[in-house]
Amino acid sequence: MATSSPANDVLLQQTYRDFISGCHILHYHRVLDAYGHLSVRHPHYPDRFIMSRYIAPATIASERDLVEYYVENAEPVDPNSPKGYSERCIHSEVLKRFPDVNAVIHSHSEAVVPYSISGVPFQAAFHMAGFLGVQTPVFDVGKHYEPGDKKDMLISNTRFGAALASCFGTEGQESNEPAHAVVLMRGHGFTVQGPSIMDVVLRAVYTQQNAGIQTTALLTRAAHFGPGQQASGGSGIVYLSEEETEGPTDMARRSANRPWRLWLREVKAQGLYDNMA
Ligand SMILES: [Zn+2]
Repeated sequence: MATSSPANDVLLQQTYRDFISGCHILHYHRVLDAYGHLSVRHPHYPDRFIMSRYIAPATIASERDLVEYYVENAEPVDPNSPKGYSERCIHSEVLKRFPDVNAVIHSHSEAVVPYSISGVPFQAAFHMAGFLGVQTPVFDVGKHYEPGDKKDMLISNTRFGAALASCFGTEGQESNEPAHAVVLMRGHGFTVQGPSIMDVVLRAVYTQQNAGIQTTALLTRAAHFGPGQQASGGSGIVYLSEEETEGPTDMARRSANRPWRLWLREVKAQGLYDNMA
């Protein structure tokens, strides 16, 4: 159960409501299944964040399903909290490294995973995914194992989490500003950060859509020209240029309310999802 009391706390209650809706939207759009998770920085205590207890995101229904954790170590504020996700260090370490990041999603999207293992660069293929820019880092947990570590691919401690979080920055710089919205995780999925629940949900949905479009473009080109027919110096696919990724990113942020309100209606129209916050 969440530690802070939402009574008469409009901002906290709205955060709970958006958090639960966000989880439902992510499930409805198949970004999350029984696994994967959303987190949000606490609106009053920036050194804490909120996640759900250890249940499938589609079944989160009220603030009783939510748990507060410390950003510092991903430990629950209330030691008697129900069991949490083992990979919550993904969230704590991204929130720790980047003070302006307020929401994080970790997904095992099957559309995106191929780009984490194939060596094909994942980049903005259409305007709704301009936030991806022209290069998406791939984090390989296998490079961070030490003797005694369980090699289960999970980001289950702060060391792995910090290594993943550093991939959001610019290589060789300690800037507090993330240079990347999305980091792919080899053989696992992806993590996306954003300034709010609404922004990060949009980014997650359009990251998955971008993967579908990019895959279709690669397959279409290979089917038509044959796998050996590559344009000089590249795949032959015309991705968004660096400049072209910037305008759509602003547009997506300014118009985020439009898809968000549609998606809220979509999940409200389904019998599966309850939001009592
Ligand atoms: Zn995972």
